[in-house]
Amino acid sequence: MADTISIVLPVFNEEAGIKTTIETLERYVSKQDENYELVFVDDGSKDESAKIIKFEIEKNDNIKLVEFSRNFGHQLAITAGLQYTKGDAVVVMDADLQDPPEVIPRMIEKWHEGYDIVYGKRKQRDGETFFKKFTSAMFYRTFKKLATIDMPLDTGDFRLMNRKAVQQMQRLHEQDPFVRGQVTWIGFKQTSVEYHRHERIAGETKYPLSKMIKLALDGITSFSMKPLQLANIFSALPLVGGLVYLIYLIATGGFTATTVGITLMLFSVGLVFLSMGIFGSYLGRVLDQVNDRPRFVVSETVGFDQRAKTIHHLDTRQQVSN
Ligand code: UDP
Ligand code: MG
Repeated sequence: MADTISIVLPVFNEEAGIKTTIETLERYVSKQDENYELVFVDDGSKDESAKIIKFEIEKNDNIKLVEFSRNFGHQLAITAGLQYTKGDAVVVMDADLQDPPEVIPRMIEKWHEGYDIVYGKRKQRDGETFFKKFTSAMFYRTFKKLATIDMPLDTGDFRLMNRKAVQQMQRLHEQDPFVRGQVTWIGFKQTSVEYHRHERIAGETKYPLSKMIKLALDGITSFSMKPLQLANIFSALPLVGGLVYLIYLIATGGFTATTVGITLMLFSVGLVFLSMGIFGSYLGRVLDQVNDRPRFVVSETVGFDQRAKTIHHLDTRQQVSN
């Protein structure tokens, strides 16, 4: 039987181009061997986006819509979209055709070769400002240094995941998810296909600077404890400085009210930073616990009966649907 591919498309105020996106995808789908469903997630659009999608649903059974009550943000729209898919594989893409559908068959090919996750790697980006490309490049490189996961550079949310990966994604319950980090975190066999990212077909970017900053901070704070531990490093400077100064005073006998004052100040500043670092270390553990990710993900179990298999796949109280 032919595979079913679900395409998840988050939508926020895309009335200018959504009809073209649907028509382009319908044309693409009609030429493929697989069965397709298009799952649109309307992220609280204030324009006619949802209405246009509903109109198309009347003509095509394979189009679906999940409507949010308000704008919850791109990352949660993707998270929700995944839960409503039934395909053997799921592709997430922008609703503005910046991620070209022609790349999907190459992703499917890699999936058939045995990869669980195939992400799109941007080789070239059209129609995006120098500022966006520069800040994005900086962010990925900083993230790589800070984070505990090895997220591939220059990837967005355009990717294919098989059912196994989608199920594991549903075990992550973060309030402010950083989806591309989560996908890296779950592991499995991952690979990339390079693609040329086009200009959006219509409308403006729905990612103003404020949303970009939120995304970057969500990414760093959910996958790195290093900023919390900075205080530990800061404490070293005054503490070592104070010690060296004290040795110098002892050697030279230069104790006066001022020099003793300076020594005491250096030590106390150092101790304040040190205790902040200790708080940070504990807070980091709390954060880890609050994130409530499963502690591990099992890729496969062999030779177990059905019941044991379920237990091995679950690890925690959270149930995987399906
Ligand atoms: N989007 C969304 N909610 C938001 C912002 C954006 O669902 O709060 C959607 C948007 O409609 C698009 C995708 O997420 O389909 C990516 O946004 P956009 O294309 O504006 O970002 P860019 O490609 O400029 O980084
Ligand atoms: Mg876009």
